[in-house]
Order: sequence, then structure tokens, then C-alpha cells
Amino acid sequence: MRVRHFTIPVFIPEEACPNRCVFCNQHRIAGAECAPSVDEVVAKVDEHLLTIPDGNDVEIGFFGGNFTGIQVEEQKAYLNSVQPYFESGRINGIRISTRPDYISTEILLMLKQYHVSTIELGAQSLDEEILKLSGRGHSAAQVHKASQMIRENGFSLGLQMMIGLPGDTAERSIYTAKEIIRLGAECTRIYPTLVIKETELEQLYLEGKYQPLSQEEAISRVADIVPLFIEANVKILRIGLHPSEGLLDNTSLVAGPFHVAFGELVFSEIWRRLLSNMVFENMKRNILTLTVAAGMRNAAIGHKAMNKAILLESFRKVVFEESAELKGFEYHADTA
Ligand code: SF4
Repeated sequence: MRVRHFTIPVFIPEEACPNRCVFCNQHRIAGAECAPSVDEVVAKVDEHLLTIPDGNDVEIGFFGGNFTGIQVEEQKAYLNSVQPYFESGRINGIRISTRPDYISTEILLMLKQYHVSTIELGAQSLDEEILKLSGRGHSAAQVHKASQMIRENGFSLGLQMMIGLPGDTAERSIYTAKEIIRLGAECTRIYPTLVIKETELEQLYLEGKYQPLSQEEAISRVADIVPLFIEANVKILRIGLHPSEGLLDNTSLVAGPFHVAFGELVFSEIWRRLLSNMVFENMKRNILTLTVAAGMRNAAIGHKAMNKAILLESFRKVVFEESAELKGFEYHADTA
């Protein structure tokens, strides 16, 4: 049986976060008004485990806000509640997400005692001006320091980034991605900035002081970044906010590039760029066989098969195949 990876998500909303990043209304995004009780966490894990067959790689993720910013006793209570799953081998790891300025030697020691294996930091940008304009309340230097401490203490590091924050440009997004790679992150998440109700960004938007990226711009910028991460073996865990995160009903979203299939659109765009580099002339009678890496077939075909449609303007027939010998965006094109 192929071992699959599952993360059971537990959202701990902003409750303890003293910050007000301009884009954040954590309650709305997490879709929950208060932090779950320990019993609720256990019930949620039990419920998820019922749907996951034994023998898979399962971890519990405490996401949402600023896990290491909540009271230490609360952190311990949450972590303690999931230890039995770890001890019985039902889960293999615990991950948390938190802020770079809430990492210290004491915190890391405590997390290690409770078998936390991965720490994801909401870096969002490594550009000082963007961090300031976004009200993040921490510096790029703090991201550097925290990342180094996390790695030195044997945790796997994740660094999340956002594009389209106030002051951001395509070049600055690329700079942040390169810094994330340089800091040794093993995984990342990329979120386009959205204007959410009851945030400072909404005010700035309504006053004409902030303009969100269009969907095309956002796709293009993320399409510039994704190949850098893939090339550097940084696992991309998520592109774009999850649709269940309170955005589908349109009661939270004011403006910005939200799309349920945002990640798919990005991969489709990357393949469109690659394939449009190929010159096809006088091939109308030929069949093109395009071999791509395992798992890339759908992305290469494109969202709503748009890339295939482009190729069909040059070829009589286009066949997509996968090969385990290819990696990332490598491909072979054969014509017959
Ligand atoms: S630190 Fe995180 S939870 Fe707190 S305001 Fe900023 S984005 Fe929201």
C-alpha cells in the first residue's frame, strides 16, 4: 500500500494574538469565534482518524494564529491532549504555526518535550518595508534568528509567505522566496493577500490607499516563485487560502484574487509559459507526446485543458504521459 500523508488541522484562532496585521481578521478566516477546548481537540482528532486507514503518515497541525503566543499552560494542555496518539503510533508528528517573534530557547525546549516536529513561521515577507506597512510587528532579522534557532534545535522549518502585501512588488516577492530557500525552510505556503472585512486593509482599500492584485497578476507572481521552490526542494504545502476558510460565502471577502482553484491556475500558467516556448511549425499532421514528471499531467494539460488547446493549434493530436524519471517541470516532447 502506498503510504499517504495526512495532516489533521486544529485551528487555534487569534484570541491570544496581540498583533493586528493589516490583512488579518483571524476569527473570520478560521471560521471560529473561540479557541477549541481540549476535549474538542480530542474529538476532532478522533473524528479524522476514523477516516484515515492505518499505516499512513499522519500528523496533527495546530494552525490559525500564534500558537506559542498563547499561555504556556494552554499550549501544554493542547499538546498533552494529543500525546496518547503519538505514543500509540497513530500519529507520527505534530506541527504548529506561530510568529517569528514568539520563538525562544525555552519555547523550543518545551515543544520538543511534546514531540513537535515541524514549526511553521508566518514570515509573510523578508522585506522590512513591507513588514512595516503590513503592521506585522516583527522584523526580517527576527525571521532570520527564529529560523536559525528552529533548525539548530532539530525541528523541520516551514516559512509561509504572502504576495501582494502593501509595498510588495514582483521583485520583492522573488526576494522573499529566495530568502526562504536560503534560510533552510523545508516547506512553505504561499498566500495572495486578500481584503477581508473588518481589517485595516479594508479601510485602506476603501480609502483608495491599497489596491489588491488582480487575479492575473497574482497568478503570474506566484508562477514566478513556484519553480524556485521546486528547484530548491522546498515542499509547497499550499497555494492560496483553503476555500473552507470562510471565504466561499462571500461574507468575508471584500476584494482580492481569491479563487477556489488558485494553485491549479498557477501550475497551469507555469506550464503555459514552458509550452509556449516551444516552436511548432508545419506539424499539423503530427502527434505530439509530451512526457512530464509524475503528478504533473493535469497541470501540464492546464486548467480547463487550456494548454492542451494551445498545443492542438499546432498538432493533430496531443498525448500527455508521466514518467517517474522526470522531476519538477522537466518534460520530453516527441513528435510522430
Ligand atoms: S500575527 Fe497572525 S493571527 Fe496575529 S494578527 Fe497577524 S496574521 Fe493575525
